[in-house]
Amino acid sequence: PRLLHELPDRGAARAPDAEALVCGGARLTWSDLRSRADLLRGALRTAGVDRGGRVAVVGRNGLACLETVLAAAGAGAATAILNWRLAPPELAHVIADSGATVLFADAAVLDAVRTALGTLDAPPRLVVTGDGAGPADGAGPADGAETYAALLDPAEPLAARDDLDPDDTCVILYTSGTTGSPKGAELTHRGLLEQSAALLAVLSMGPADRSVAVLPFFHVGGVCYAVTALLAGAPTVVLREATPEAMCAAVADGATHLLLVPAMLPGILAAGPDAVAAFGRLRYCLYGASPMPLPVLRRALALFPGIRFLQLYGMTELSGAATALAPEAHRDPAHAHRLASAGRPMPGVEARVVDPATRAELPPGRRGELWIRSPGRMKGYLGNPAATAETVTDDGWLRTGDLARIDEDGYVFVEDRLKDLIITGGENVCPAEVERVLVEHPAVVEAAVIGVPDEKWGETVRAVLVTADGVPVDPAELRAFCRERLAGFKCPTSVGTVAALPRNATGKIDKNALRAAVARPDA
Ligand code: AMP
Ligand code: MG
Repeated sequence: PRLLHELPDRGAARAPDAEALVCGGARLTWSDLRSRADLLRGALRTAGVDRGGRVAVVGRNGLACLETVLAAAGAGAATAILNWRLAPPELAHVIADSGATVLFADAAVLDAVRTALGTLDAPPRLVVTGDGAGPADGAGPADGAETYAALLDPAEPLAARDDLDPDDTCVILYTSGTTGSPKGAELTHRGLLEQSAALLAVLSMGPADRSVAVLPFFHVGGVCYAVTALLAGAPTVVLREATPEAMCAAVADGATHLLLVPAMLPGILAAGPDAVAAFGRLRYCLYGASPMPLPVLRRALALFPGIRFLQLYGMTELSGAATALAPEAHRDPAHAHRLASAGRPMPGVEARVVDPATRAELPPGRRGELWIRSPGRMKGYLGNPAATAETVTDDGWLRTGDLARIDEDGYVFVEDRLKDLIITGGENVCPAEVERVLVEHPAVVEAAVIGVPDEKWGETVRAVLVTADGVPVDPAELRAFCRERLAGFKCPTSVGTVAALPRNATGKIDKNALRAAVARPDA
């Protein structure tokens, strides 16, 4: 298939009555999925959404999100999938930036969404989705707003347009990229489908398998992996909430594949003997999005001898994974050091390491910035050609902002970050965004935000402040202040107060010095 919305058509032609998507009590066969996408496309058309248009989705994972992506894609429109954990001011920014004319919002996040919409001059039309979406959807507390069911009810099915281009944007995901505030990465039909095809070339997944969608769809790992299962013709169980219990239960129910972030693995390892035994029946456990702590990985390999573990290194701007550490490499005693690597470039992907200053390619073994050239490369950042030009070179290389080395055998070791980015439990936090909020606080004069190692989340957010009178700010009060303006995962979990922030010769805050001070508190 060349276009995303051809996936349900293909599934319906092959096995119309086989399960395609399951969420809570809702079950859609391939033929249901096709009809619902057609129906929603008709409704969107009536709502004025046509080629080049945009819609947005916000909420916990459910069927409505995937239906919307497929319906909009066939109309030639793009779906911005938004992070439901954002605070109202952050939501307002991404909703407005996306240019969406219709916003599908989960009933569970309606309060924050309403607050955000109230601050916009031209808010999109609001449609409320319920918990599982699917046929029974819309029963939720819509509170006067239009429901998904009411939108679909009078709609006439509409087939996909036949003049669409694989290089059209069909999904927009917000990412802070290597700098600054969130930008919408425009992902195309071609990018998502080629990334998914590349993933299917490094693992085995087919109609007899069953996949679990664990990661949020507003992350590339969530949406690209869902597309991969649709492409494989495998049914997908969509989890509303990815608790260790829910994941183990899904596997006990016959699921064979899932993709998680490293921070989720300890919860599964600790889930109790029955859950662990159930989880062990998985065929493939994919993981990625942040560095995997080796001790956790070794424990998982020992506890689950039957699972094929597959690591992915990827980025929003690449529509998914760029490198993969194959299952065999996880259990190869002759090359045990490879366990610390993110594996080799996926089919069709090129990787190189360059000197960040001169941009000259470095030989194997030397550390520098990792550049990737891949068919999954985003079209660009929505409405931000300057940021796009900073991130993508003229000859199509994506500057990842990660520091890596590539060994003689082509294994990529991601060792550090050039970009000022914190990854906490798979969620990215741009320190500058948090610093901007902290300095708004009346008692804060200067603020620096760093990531510090954390057993559970990989990294956690720490703020180092210079305050007006040198008196520490009340942590609870500061947290409440941040929480009104920032998603919970961006709020500092620890705060220190200093007389002055360390600075380097050019006057920039020396974050390495701050991190070193945390590592050696007595120094
Ligand atoms: P995102 O765009 O949110 O997917 O974040 C991409 C960033 O996550 C990358 O640039 C890396 O810094 C990090 N990342 C993703 N996968 C891995 C991995 N397997 N190992 C280490 N870091 C990773
Ligand atoms: Mg990520």
